[in-house]
Amino acid sequence: MADAVDFANDQVEYFLQLSLQRLARLPGKPSAQFCDDCGEPIPLARQQSVEGCDTCVDCQELRDRRR
Ligand SMILES: [Zn+2]
Repeated sequence: MADAVDFANDQVEYFLQLSLQRLARLPGKPSAQFCDDCGEPIPLARQQSVEGCDTCVDCQELRDRRR
């Protein structure tokens, strides 16, 4: 009987880990298509490489410099 319970717990643990891994793979905040600061379109490559970016490269540099 104890074996059956252990097995069930292992199954629960397994599916829990599986769903956690799926959650971790979900994309975070989507990148903006247009720059927040100047309104220029953000290149698709940048949208995809920088998760959740909301400015173009130029404005991002300005923001970094202001920091
Ligand atoms: Zn910009």
